Amino acid sequence: MESGKTYLVLENYIGGQFVPCSSYLDSYDPSTGEVYCKVPDSGQEEIDAAVKAAQNAFPGWSSKSPQERAKLLSKLADLIEDDLELFAQAESKDQAGLISPWNLPLYLLTWKIAPAIAYGNTVIAKPSEITSVTAWMMCKLLSKAGFPPGVVNIVFGSGPKAGDALVSHPEVSLISFTGSTLTGQRIIERSAPYCKKLSLELGGKNPAIIFDDANLDECVPVSVRSSFANQGEICLCTSRIFVQRNIYHEFLRKFVEAVKKWKVGCPTDPTVDMGPLISKEHLAKVKNYIKRAKEEGAEILCGEGINGLDLPTRNQHGYFLLPTVITTIADDSSCMQDEIFGPVTCITAFDTEEEVIRRANGVKYGLAAVVWSRNVGRVHRVAKRLRSGLVWTNCWLIRDLNLPFGGMKASGIGREGAKDSYEFFTEIKTITIKHTEM
Ligand code: NAD
Repeated sequence: MESGKTYLVLENYIGGQFVPCSSYLDSYDPSTGEVYCKVPDSGQEEIDAAVKAAQNAFPGWSSKSPQERAKLLSKLADLIEDDLELFAQAESKDQAGLISPWNLPLYLLTWKIAPAIAYGNTVIAKPSEITSVTAWMMCKLLSKAGFPPGVVNIVFGSGPKAGDALVSHPEVSLISFTGSTLTGQRIIERSAPYCKKLSLELGGKNPAIIFDDANLDECVPVSVRSSFANQGEICLCTSRIFVQRNIYHEFLRKFVEAVKKWKVGCPTDPTVDMGPLISKEHLAKVKNYIKRAKEEGAEILCGEGINGLDLPTRNQHGYFLLPTVITTIADDSSCMQDEIFGPVTCITAFDTEEEVIRRANGVKYGLAAVVWSRNVGRVHRVAKRLRSGLVWTNCWLIRDLNLPFGGMKASGIGREGAKDSYEFFTEIKTITIKHTEM
């Protein structure tokens, strides 16, 4: 770290107060590769304090009427201009631990906090150590909106330390987690001794299936966006594109032509389509997948290793990568099986409906899929047989927050959405009262 430079220093938000931590982690600006902020490296002690604050706040918060809780959520929603109002009706139950990833740091965190507190729980949230500033800024708005101390506690820190302390805390009975499948598996193991209630939103390896009657004028630009929006760092991004053989070459030509027009650069530049990847380590991981594909005989049509990056001087050490298109790749290659979570998409040809359903389902994940066809019967047939929690037809990323959301297979357990969140964050009790004469 450069000496003499000043950094933004974050503090945990516990019991309505900002509390300093005894040690800190460096957080990097991905567009420059420089440290720009210090994040608390919290552990057991900080998690214990947050759980205590949440327990103290629980009796008061859970006994408020749904309308009173809704009022505060609406206030917070106004302050951050978010969707929180959707959850502002309902019942109660316990201390919830909420763990979120680095991609879409505000959206994924509020999507957990809002239903949990609307239903009367008090929460301890641990955002990703890589993108903690958004959550820290939200803490200031929590106080401003008038939430009682301890209803929402935010503890910053790494997964193995702060995250693990939260997951294995005996007084936290619900864990709602969004992140990688590997961490999800670890959370299942660590919470098993307490039989905690878990909601796990995990990784994906999402297919797009393009039949020969698809409207390519719509399909090509949407498929480019579904592959590369937010650097491909959205769990719902497409990473395998299956194209029916008789339109394969036409699709490929149009797709690559459109991808090459995407401008990669500093996210503050309004003319840019794609910014940097989240971290140095993640960039190395994504590049390694491309290298492996090449070694296995795949063809890289554009992007990494083919075209050059053109970056301003101050962004030369940022974590940038060009959108990369891979073809001639086997279904069992790691690029076609593993979640890469970056701007890399593989395109392959298929002949029949039966074949493409089998191949699209041939991965361990089942989060989201897209089907492109003007044949309504086919769209319904294929969508029904895809082992995927969500299927879009002739579009991508159109969502109504009331609809259930979540994956199948290694993509998750439990679903989110208004009704599903209600079931997760509340408890149904049976109380039998026998009246006796006194
Ligand atoms: P990650 O699993 O590395 O980390 C996610 C969170 O878990 C972070 O806050 C991290 O600190 C914490 N964590 C890590 N190890 C932990 C442990 N042992 N115990 C408790 N907490 C721990 O994931 P990431 O790299 O931050 O995010 C990318 C992943 O998230 C991708 O796999 C992506 O598909 C997935 N994701 C899924 C959805 C969905 O809705 N299904 C949405 C967004 C992201």
